[in-house]
Amino acid sequence: MSIPTDASWCWRRILEHREIAQNFTLHLIGNEKQTRFWKDSWHPLGVLFDLFPLALQFDSILIVNATVDSCISENTWDIPHHLRAGNSGDYSLKDTYEALRPVNPQPWWRHLVWFHRCVPRHSFITWITLHHALKTKDKLIGWGVNIDPICSLCGLETENEDHLFLWCHYSQYIWKNLLSLMGFDHQLSSYWESEVQWCAQKFSGTNLITTIRKLSLNAYIYHVWGERNSRIFRREARTQYTMLHIIVEEIRLKLSVQENVIEDTPLARQILHFWDIPVTYKIHAEITCQWQEPYQGAVLINCDGSLNDISGSFRAIIRNHEGVVLATAAGIARRSTMIIYELQELEAGLRLANKYGFKRVCVGTDSQVMVSVFHKPNTKLPWTARYIWRCIKNYVNNLDFFSIKYINRQSNCAADNLASIWPTAEFMEINPGSFSEELKKIILEDKCKKVYYHS
Ligand SMILES: [Zn+2]
Repeated sequence: MSIPTDASWCWRRILEHREIAQNFTLHLIGNEKQTRFWKDSWHPLGVLFDLFPLALQFDSILIVNATVDSCISENTWDIPHHLRAGNSGDYSLKDTYEALRPVNPQPWWRHLVWFHRCVPRHSFITWITLHHALKTKDKLIGWGVNIDPICSLCGLETENEDHLFLWCHYSQYIWKNLLSLMGFDHQLSSYWESEVQWCAQKFSGTNLITTIRKLSLNAYIYHVWGERNSRIFRREARTQYTMLHIIVEEIRLKLSVQENVIEDTPLARQILHFWDIPVTYKIHAEITCQWQEPYQGAVLINCDGSLNDISGSFRAIIRNHEGVVLATAAGIARRSTMIIYELQELEAGLRLANKYGFKRVCVGTDSQVMVSVFHKPNTKLPWTARYIWRCIKNYVNNLDFFSIKYINRQSNCAADNLASIWPTAEFMEINPGSFSEELKKIILEDKCKKVYYHS
């Protein structure tokens, strides 16, 4: 608003100092209908209009006079994606870029190429290969280049991707030996792409054995292609025996410089013996646990959640110190990050306890993150989790006693078993009479202090 020229001198001076005065004003959110999203100082960072670049405001679906309540839907923030803060809770250009850019689905072979401890120069050649972008001779000839079509490794057949990596007797010798060193006795596929699909299926996980397998695949592709180029452009040739030795030594040296720990299994011992990589074996130890009843006069909430491709769901079951079920609820969770799912589980349990007027509440959860949120007050929650965290704190503040502790997944199996019930509403109570026979058995076993084993 411009300063009216016909106003009194005093009023004009006051209006001139609006910017300074603005620093000392703060909007307290009431029903959110009176507070303007962009222009009022309701946010801890100040007036959002001053913080966001103009382009973001104009790109936003929020009109310039939008109120805060128009950004809330079903008790949670409903902000255009590119205006949201990242998981750190702070606004950043990177998060905005991530929200705006189109995200292509990841290729099925991604985990074979890019992984912890990968060799970037090897992975890069594999990445090109799996995009079918290596300039093999069959492609060059197809583009009209006049060259000898014969494979430079065996000198017998036409060079193409399938031949180079699978059918050529030179490469086949190396690949078959590598497979054997990886612990596989595998009938080769008919096509290279099918062979890589087989690898994608078999090389899953992150342990040392899987790392050896992924490194072997990438080193194999890199060195076969390198040998082919070296023969064509430098007239230098190495035998398949030398090449196999180079690959194995490279991987052995790469993995020997760091400490390796792996679970002790006969297969791990057999493979690592071949590769001669120093390793510490983790001995499998079994520990016991039981369902832990609450203090007398208190109730125990066990909560759990699960995810499918579209959404998540959570469940909470409340029992007294004798193991009698007092209330159970389930609900649909919004698709979000893991920590928000876990907070939603807890919020559902506390909502249920509040409904029944339980004032002394213990919570048992198999989420270490959730326990640490309570025990380390400085834990920074994602921005989108703040609303639900506020609800949880409100419930907890109304209790006479509250404790939360980490329990093993096995002693949380009543809540875990409820996962078979897929809720149809945001929050719904479940009648214990409708429990499955299996769940009734778990509850009875918990009461009788059944001992569970876990590693
Ligand atoms: Zn060949």
